Amino acid sequence: MSEDLLIKNGMIVTGDKRGTVISKGFIRVSGARIAEISEGNPNFTADKVIDATGCLVIPGLVTAHTHLYGILLRGASLNISPPTDFAQVLQRVWWPVDEALTLQDAYASALSASADMLRNGSTLFADTYSGPNSIEGSLQEIARGTKEVGMRGVLAFEMTERNNPEEAHRGFQEGVKFIQSCKKDDLVSGMVSLHASFTVGDKTVEEAANEAKKLDVPITVHTSEGLVDLYHNLEATGERTVERLDRLGVLGPKTVLAHCVHVNDHEIELIAKRRASVAHNPMSNMLNAVGVAPVTKMLEKGITVGLGNDGWIYDPFENMRCALTVHRLASGNPSAIGPEEVFRMATIEGAHCYGFGNDLGSLEKRKLADIAILEGSRVPTPLTSESVIGHLVNTFSGRDVRDVVVNGDIVVQNRLLTKTTDTHVSKVSRESAMGLWSRINLK
Ligand SMILES: [Zn+2]
Repeated sequence: MSEDLLIKNGMIVTGDKRGTVISKGFIRVSGARIAEISEGNPNFTADKVIDATGCLVIPGLVTAHTHLYGILLRGASLNISPPTDFAQVLQRVWWPVDEALTLQDAYASALSASADMLRNGSTLFADTYSGPNSIEGSLQEIARGTKEVGMRGVLAFEMTERNNPEEAHRGFQEGVKFIQSCKKDDLVSGMVSLHASFTVGDKTVEEAANEAKKLDVPITVHTSEGLVDLYHNLEATGERTVERLDRLGVLGPKTVLAHCVHVNDHEIELIAKRRASVAHNPMSNMLNAVGVAPVTKMLEKGITVGLGNDGWIYDPFENMRCALTVHRLASGNPSAIGPEEVFRMATIEGAHCYGFGNDLGSLEKRKLADIAILEGSRVPTPLTSESVIGHLVNTFSGRDVRDVVVNGDIVVQNRLLTKTTDTHVSKVSRESAMGLWSRINLK
């Protein structure tokens, strides 16, 4: 169990319902939880002390949708015929990568991506893994990499029938086994995942939805990320993607629909009615040229929208900035979305997506101590309680993150990992990437 920790002299952005900002205050952490949060100077000390003078203290940011193994493709020259639509992105890039993944890649990418996210201020991610030739044992390997650096994660194996139904069944078994194995784990938990409506049949979708309800865990599915998903559903069943998922019992308060780029008003109504959530991935959507999700409409309907990276650019500040700008561009309205909404998506709303809203996503007494501390002394204009949210979305980047606390433990200190070394993480990650690149002819 962690020792007591005191974070003092910082500006605290609590992210609570009232948007409380404490200009100068302290947080006392006892074990894994926040025991006290207050303005002023503490009249006590603790086993460990972080002096946050000149710094911002914010809730650990939540990555509501990712693929950790995406990190192994960073910088690769793909050596393929350029894809001209999203289906070809999957066929030419991601599916060959999936098939080449090994258990070692699962571990190495989890280690490396978790380290990258932590160093950028993210303390919780929701990951789905897809590796048809490395199914059994993959989630334990991902959990091992995640916990080695002290990150918090919700993990799942992505069920798909794109090769054969047996593959989905094995993925399902791997997921269920993992969910049961980590029920009492402090850092990792499991969920059910379907790849996408267009790669799974009715029976598999219903089986997954029923199991998620039985196990009382979240279920996540890529939903109309590209037009291929929507058109497949319309042709096969006459229903739009969200309509089909609803008919098969997928939508509910523990459902996280990733992307929802091509959803219409009726589908948005359905998501709101079933109190399902959406994981929005604006940078990935731009990278893959799939379109702009109607997020402002979702927010108007009260839908919980978290912010993800979909396996690309793990810096949550970059993703926040993109969420701020892409909806303004798409709508032609410079007031379409503001920094407050974007910051909530990256914190409390992301936590709500996976049922963690009572424990994570804001800095409040009794919540788990997941905290990021950012160096603020180089901010060029006044950093005040009024300007701070604007600065978080307009000024800061992951490189400003100095210290990170997860579950009451300091896991990044002065920009360095504390549980292992940055050199070790890079070595393991590069070795795995070299093997993967050689297997699929990347350079
Ligand atoms: Zn994804």
